[in-house]
Parts: sequence; structure tokens; C-alpha cells
Amino acid sequence: MLTDRPSDLLRGFIIVDEGRYVGVGAVLGLLQAANEANRLGSAQLARMAHYDALTDLPNRVLFHKELSEALARARRRDEMLAVLCVDLDHFKTVNDTLGHPVGDALLQVAGKRLLGCVREGDTIARLGGDEFAIVQTGLDDLSGAARLADRIVEAVSHPFDVMGHQVVIGASVGIAAAPSDGDSGDELLKKADMALYRVKGEGRGGFHFFERAMDDRVQTRRALELDLRHALVAGEFELYYQPLFSLGAERVQGCEALLRWRHPARGLVSPADFIPLAEEIGLIVPLGEWVLRQACAEATAWPEHVRLAVNLSPAQFRSRHLVQTVVSALSASGLSPHRLELEITESVLLQDNAANMAVLHSIRDLGVRISMDDFGTGYSSLSYLRSFPFDKIKIDQTFIRDLPHDADALAIVRAVTGLGASLGIDTTAEGVETAEQLAELRTHGCREIQGYFISPPVPAADIAAMLGVAPAARDGGEVTALPPPAGQTSVGPGDLDVVSVSGGSTAARLQV
Ligand SMILES: [Mg+2]
Repeated sequence: MLTDRPSDLLRGFIIVDEGRYVGVGAVLGLLQAANEANRLGSAQLARMAHYDALTDLPNRVLFHKELSEALARARRRDEMLAVLCVDLDHFKTVNDTLGHPVGDALLQVAGKRLLGCVREGDTIARLGGDEFAIVQTGLDDLSGAARLADRIVEAVSHPFDVMGHQVVIGASVGIAAAPSDGDSGDELLKKADMALYRVKGEGRGGFHFFERAMDDRVQTRRALELDLRHALVAGEFELYYQPLFSLGAERVQGCEALLRWRHPARGLVSPADFIPLAEEIGLIVPLGEWVLRQACAEATAWPEHVRLAVNLSPAQFRSRHLVQTVVSALSASGLSPHRLELEITESVLLQDNAANMAVLHSIRDLGVRISMDDFGTGYSSLSYLRSFPFDKIKIDQTFIRDLPHDADALAIVRAVTGLGASLGIDTTAEGVETAEQLAELRTHGCREIQGYFISPPVPAADIAAMLGVAPAARDGGEVTALPPPAGQTSVGPGDLDVVSVSGGSTAARLQV
């Protein structure tokens, strides 16, 4: 019976017949050790293939297996089953600000809390990142799934103590049920995910059941995504420019490049519809690079005193190629760095502050100016103004809109222009629509205005005409600046009537 219980035999040999069988015993011992290691090794491999190493919860593979088995059982017993997709809110911020070790520890604790919410027999898995999923079985109706989702949102909302940090996050939950929403695991997961997406869109920290309309929306969005990926190659993007009018020099001294998408079938697509999507699918980086190159090429045709302003997206900072992109756009176009102004929003300083700050300094060292865009809308921490030598603050249009009659808006505008003046930073008012607003801003020392009162965003050819030059060649090709007509170096105040619009709504702003 050597093969059945080799370890007993081995012990027997060693103890009883030590001298005689020691050789055999040693061979058996080695075989036994090797067998044991193999057995342990394959058990460990099997565990690794089915469990998440960080949280020790089932992984995606085991989840799918359990889900299809639960579905088969539910069908036989004529029961309902729910799939819940759980996403931790603001997890990325924790990782970004406190580091991955804290993020990992948080995932472990959060996994335990989630495990504490489910009943025995339900499966909870970590699908990856901060994504968890649950199979809830034996349901009589959907209220049981709603109660579980509620428990999860409540449990995760309590602060976590992780490696000496108190971390507050939250959870968003999307729910799909069988058989009403589908009878395959993939379909249920996909639909629970759509419901989750809706919760996130509505501000997170809650739950939502799948609804058929979500599917339609996702289809529409997918079609838009395909078109968007194609648009850059197909040359469907173009730049509009909105003038920046200097209140000291009394002329247009700059133009902000704003992206437009001319869809072959839909016509002009609202930036509000495609910019967030472009950010999400990672297209914003190549798109932002195209904007920078194209705008620099077009601006070379403008008079020397007219600067070019280009918006940067936080995603472009994450790409790590931003400085190189700026250098190459400048050198390809021949635009002088001091004529380029890059507009950033404070979200750039909020995330990955040190790395982004280094990028900003490198860009400014090139001679390029940096503006703080939409000031007053976010945290608007004054420490940002101390942490980086901004060249310009653009006061958000929401404050300008209520001028001159709203005392609070007026106080804020006065404070920001005063702050700019004492810090040596220029201030620009966005969204100026009336002569009254202009007069008020002038009184308070605002240096520059932008808005429909001066001009809406206009196509490249129109801005070139407004500036008295021929439009530059498109696509960054050979650019020839024509001298402005005699006696006219810029659009003066007298020319403004031609382009001013009174009363019109403020232009949709584009961020790229
Ligand atoms: Mg801007």
C-alpha cells in the first residue's frame, strides 16, 4: 500500500527499520515532499485564479461562474435574482492624494464592510479597481434588492480609518434583476452597470434600478462615441475664436480658440455633449494637441500684438507629454511663445499638484503665459494664486452676468480685480454682454473683457477679417501673414458695432 499512504510508510520505515530501509525511506520522503508541494501549489494556483489577492473576495472569474449557477437555480425554482454593481465614490481621489498603499488598504476594509451587508449564500466579488458586484438570490420581489443597496450605501458612508488617515468615501449601486432585465450573466452585469452609471451621473451616493431608457441612451452614446473617434481623422473639427478686448489699449489684444465639431449628419454638435465624452474615452489628449497645433498655425497670421489663448484639459496634464506638445506646436507654427496663453482651470491644481505644477513651470519657462480660467466657480482657493505665478485671472461669467445691479456679484468682481492688481496679475471678465457691464468693469480696474458685447466666437476666417488679415492656411501648412489694410492695425472700438450682439445669450463655452 505504498501509494496510498506514503507518509505513514515513511515514518514506519524510519522508526522501525531505520538502518535497513533508510534509503527507501529517503526516496519516499522526497516523493512525498514533492507531491505535497505540488498539491499545495495547485491549490494555491486554483485560489489565485478564483479569488482577489487584495480583498480575498471572489474575483471576476468566480463571480461569473457563481452567477450562471445562481441563474440556473433561480430558473428552476422560479425565483428572482438581482445583480448589484457597487462602485466606491471618490476612490480615485484617495489613491491620487494619499497614495496606492492607503487606497489598497481602503479596498480591503471596504470589501469587509460590503461582505457584512450580504446574506450567507449571496456572492460578493471584486471585479477590479474599486468595482464590486453582488449576486443576491432567493428574492420574492425587488424591495429586497433595494434594501441591500441601501445597507451598502449606508455602510460605506461611515468614515474609514486607514493607515492613520480618516477617509470619507461613499458608494453608488446599480441594480439589474432576473428574469425581468435579462437571463444571462453578461446582460445583467451590463444593465446593472448602466444603472450604476446613472447614479454616478446624478451625483453618486445612492442606488438605481436598470430602466429600458438607459439602454437607449447608451446606444445613442455609443454611436456618438464611434463618430467622435472618426471625427479627428475625418477633419470634422474646426476652431472658432472669441476676441479678448483690452480696456487699456482699447483694441483686441487676444483671441481664445474654441473647439467646434461639425458632424456630417447632426450639424454642429454641442461641446457640452462631446467634450465630456472625449475626456472619458481618452480622445481629449490627441484632440487637445490638434487644437494647440491648429490654433498656433492660424494665429501666426494675426498681427503681432494679438495673443492666442488656448484651453487645456486636466487630461492633457496627465498624459505627461504636454510640455513637448507645446514646444512642438510653437516650433512647427513659428508662433512666438510670448503670444501664447494657456488657460487652465483649478482642477489642474487640485489633482496631482506637484507634478502638474512642475509642468506649468516648464511651460511658463518657455515664455508662454498661464491664465486661471473660470475663477470663482470651483474652490477658488486664494492659495492657488500664491502657489503659481499666474499671468491672468479670468473672472467667471456667472459673476459678470449679474452686473451691475447685484451687489454681491459686484463685491466679488471688485475684490478679484483688486486682488489681481495687488498681485500683479491681469484680470479678464468673461461673458460681458452689455455696455453697462463694460462701464462697471472699467471703473473697477478690470484689464480685459470677453463676451458677446465684443463678439461671439466666430470662424477662423472671420476673426482674420476682423483683425484685418487674410486667414492662415489650414492644417498647419505654409502660413503667410498679410499686412493689415493701411491705417488699421486692429479692430478698434469703432469696429465693434459690426460684431457686437446685445442681449444674446452667452456663448456655450468650450473647454479643451
Ligand atoms: Mg477658457
